[in-house]
Amino acid sequence: MNQHVSWAEAGAAETRGGDVVRIVDLKRQFGGTAAVDGISLSVRKGEILGIIGRSGAGKSTLIRCLNGLERPDEGQIFVEGREITGLGERDLQPLRRRIGMIFQHFNLLSAKTVEENVALPLKIEGRSKAERLARAAELLDLVGLADKARAYPASLSGGQKQRVGIARALAARPALLLSDEATSALDPETTRSILSLLKDINQRLGLTILLITHEMEVIRTVADRVAVIDAGKIVEEGQVWSVFADPQADVTRSLLAGIRPQLPEAIAARLGKAGREAILRVDVAGEAARRPLLQELATAIPGRFRLVHGGIDHIQGEPVGTLFVGVQTTDGRVAEIIDFLNARDTRVEVLGHVSDDV
Ligand code: ADP
Repeated sequence: MNQHVSWAEAGAAETRGGDVVRIVDLKRQFGGTAAVDGISLSVRKGEILGIIGRSGAGKSTLIRCLNGLERPDEGQIFVEGREITGLGERDLQPLRRRIGMIFQHFNLLSAKTVEENVALPLKIEGRSKAERLARAAELLDLVGLADKARAYPASLSGGQKQRVGIARALAARPALLLSDEATSALDPETTRSILSLLKDINQRLGLTILLITHEMEVIRTVADRVAVIDAGKIVEEGQVWSVFADPQADVTRSLLAGIRPQLPEAIAARLGKAGREAILRVDVAGEAARRPLLQELATAIPGRFRLVHGGIDHIQGEPVGTLFVGVQTTDGRVAEIIDFLNARDTRVEVLGHVSDDV
């Protein structure tokens, strides 16, 4: 693989520092529906920006504005500093090629071989056959499919098809890879392998990626920054680990509900208003998750407490986690323990009480 890094590195070098895409106050209405309602965002060179939202949030409309298939009513889009809004079809074409796309259903041409699919963007650019085949071989090597050059898409697995999609999207050395729900049709294991390929290409070659998804797990695994959209607006934006640690918007919390730690059902079902043990949910992140919090607590307050459930995850190398702590109420120190934890940059919530052992 390494002998092929050179061209891509050259491409990466020129895209480091600054914004690849800048969107300013973009609006697009359909009848009475504001599909995109004043979105501003930038994709910085070399980063993976995730955009997440539920169905109907406005993701597709945003993508269609970005690749020129949809005209916004208001606002501007800049690709590598050049405004694309208002351009005619002919002027749009070369700018459109600066964005490589991968799709949920791969969109490969079934009558063409893998290498022909990969080389297609170069054929459109009028490159020679020798150049096209050399680049296709280079890219298939990059995505781990060197032995499938002559195969047809029908003989490939979903994951292999998406690897071909990625190779094709990179063929014309785009400034940005736009991933539109690219792992939504894949099983969890294949999803992980595709996301790890994207992360690898991003880190080794500095490729800038804009990733659209409705799955927080995808954001968690691969993105550096996340923008949450709802009803055509960005409702929350930030570093992935900090949004996971302390989500602000209701829609973010609801998108995170499935993957944030929860008290096991059997215990949650037994929670009451009073009992001999209070069950606390303690969210920790960053510095608070690095310090010996439970040891400090045990030293400072001699009440009985225990870890019921939970753990620490690592997102972008930052610890983010939730500890479910059972605190003996008969010691009369629950309020003191909560104050102690709150003073140490954690978020504490009393979920309820249990009387018997859980
Ligand atoms: P998402 O991709 O996040 O599911 P969309 O961009 O497809 O969201 O849709 C955003 C909103 O705009 C939805 O309410 C949708 O019904 C509406 N919408 C999108 N495209 C059209 C269209 N061509 N005509 C009418 N309404 C549309």
